[in-house]
Amino acid sequence: MTTQLQAMPTDWHKALAVVAHPDDLEYGCSAAVAAWTDAGKEVAYLLATRGEAGIDTLSPQECAPLREREQRASAAVVGVTSVEFLDHRDGVIEYGPPLRRDIAAAIREHRPELVITLNHRDTWGEVAWNTPDHVAVGRATLDAAADAGNRWIFPELRERGLEPWNGVKWVAVAGSSTPTHAVDATTGLERAVESLVAHRTYIEALTDEDPRTYARAFLTDVAGTVGERFGGRPAVAFEVFTR
Ligand SMILES: [Zn+2]
Repeated sequence: MTTQLQAMPTDWHKALAVVAHPDDLEYGCSAAVAAWTDAGKEVAYLLATRGEAGIDTLSPQECAPLREREQRASAAVVGVTSVEFLDHRDGVIEYGPPLRRDIAAAIREHRPELVITLNHRDTWGEVAWNTPDHVAVGRATLDAAADAGNRWIFPELRERGLEPWNGVKWVAVAGSSTPTHAVDATTGLERAVESLVAHRTYIEALTDEDPRTYARAFLTDVAGTVGERFGGRPAVAFEVFTR
């Protein structure tokens, strides 16, 4: 149970993070992103939705532009300026060829060696049920890493000038209950807190706690737990699928 996590590979230049919703990358992952951009690596974000169904008191029409704005601000805190949205519908993202094609297109465009996504499994471990959007996007991202390299699966992408990219070496899944690797969060943790605080409207709808107190407590707690398996340093865990 106390197997140590391995350090994440560092021999890459470009990563693409693909998730379902604004805030998915800020609940832990962004501390690793901060460390990577500090080291001169390039990271781009791709979101399947604008998180428009995420706030009970706001209609999707009001919510979408607001959450997009908060996501862009949040990405900027950890050195990410490329943030794109696929406009699938929040809450009912469907796993299937159209989603795989959209993600494969982005992989061909960005040509990353590392792809990041969020937990694609049914649960977060034990009986904590995951959401269908995370499952759909996580699975489609794992699949799209291969689709991006195959010229025959989505021939329409080549017609759009997107040539196959078979250079993805790893797909790293955040939030997995069976992680294999970790990234030191010591230097990125404070910026991760600020990146989560940037989702202020969402957090204020979620809790009465002060957003910064809430974000710091959550992220410090998770990074500390991962750190118990990573030499005692606060860390972000990933389950790494090698290709
Ligand atoms: Zn989410």
